[in-house]
Amino acid sequence: MSKRDYYDVLGVGKSADEAELKKAYRKKAMKYHPDRNSGDKEAEEKFKEINEAYEVLSDQEKRNMYDQFGHAGVNQQGGFGGGGFGGGGFEDIINEMFGGGFGGFGGGGRSSRNRPQKGKNIQVNVTISFKEAAFGTKKDIEFYRTEECSTCNGTGAEPGTKKHTCDKCGGSGEIRYKQRSLFGESISVAACDKCNGSGEIYETPCHTCKGHGKVKKSKKIEVNIPAGIYHGAKMNLRGEGDLGSKGGPRGDVYVVVSVMPHEIFKRDGDDVFCEIPITFTQAALGSEIVVPTLEGKISITVAPGTQSGKQYRLKNKGFPVLNGYGKGNQYVRVQVEVPKNLNAKQKELLKDFEKQTSNTKGYTQKDNFFEKVKRMFS
Ligand SMILES: [Zn+2]
Ligand SMILES: [Zn+2]
Repeated sequence: MSKRDYYDVLGVGKSADEAELKKAYRKKAMKYHPDRNSGDKEAEEKFKEINEAYEVLSDQEKRNMYDQFGHAGVNQQGGFGGGGFGGGGFEDIINEMFGGGFGGFGGGGRSSRNRPQKGKNIQVNVTISFKEAAFGTKKDIEFYRTEECSTCNGTGAEPGTKKHTCDKCGGSGEIRYKQRSLFGESISVAACDKCNGSGEIYETPCHTCKGHGKVKKSKKIEVNIPAGIYHGAKMNLRGEGDLGSKGGPRGDVYVVVSVMPHEIFKRDGDDVFCEIPITFTQAALGSEIVVPTLEGKISITVAPGTQSGKQYRLKNKGFPVLNGYGKGNQYVRVQVEVPKNLNAKQKELLKDFEKQTSNTKGYTQKDNFFEKVKRMFS
């Protein structure tokens, strides 16, 4: 639904003065007041519309914005800024679109550009091995972040030169313009590109930072990655990100941990899983088999007559609980491998073996199954 023009709503001309506005408002408000129109939905809506129009037009600052930008100039909601969106970029866009720029309307009155602002957050990816995830590790991470320019001490001015008010933004440090976007028509507030939002221009910009006052520098930090860390975990290094502005704190660094898959082990929560192939004679006769664990090799006993798929639990051989106590378990599943490419002698032996087992109770599962099949068709 498109909004009606506020001047039309009150029935006044664009040049109406304060007294005219007040008079028009009073007249309309009396007519549509809920007390006089009990239960009339349409009158109620009209009354709201009149109040809204008057609220804007009676305030000189709001009226100026409305005259310049229409409804978009006065109906934007603030409150999007100030955190929640981890990765700097998006937050900045939202901030520029909605943040602070409308402070004059019911807000603080000061533009966010002049308030201390936290620096941008930086994301750094680090890849560790499966074993490092189990035992914890230290990793050096390196990234670029903004630092104060040491040539100009962050002022942006070539040492020894003067500064004056920016003529493009008149010293406010920001430029407003109408913009169409996903959110409809809105007023964008962007940092002035001439003075980079500072409101001041230096006669000669600092040659090192080109007047930004900040430079990108490489930074190395040793990060302690705790035992039990999982793939995709995000660690926050508070205050290690980009420099803030106007005395605001540094942003944060998010270290996103990738854990490489393992050739043998799989992980589920704090538990570790692996499959171990064994021969069918090992399964039939029983045997000691070697099992790898995160901490080294151990051996377990496979009992005679072990079936394929049998699972063993090795208590406390899993991952340590991250930031907690105890450990997960390791689960070992044996898979009986049927031999291929038998030679003549082996085939002969197995045929003999088959004759030997045909009249014994060696295959309980198979025997039970065929009993059921027999019953099904009898
Ligand atoms: Zn400027
Ligand atoms: Zn500089």
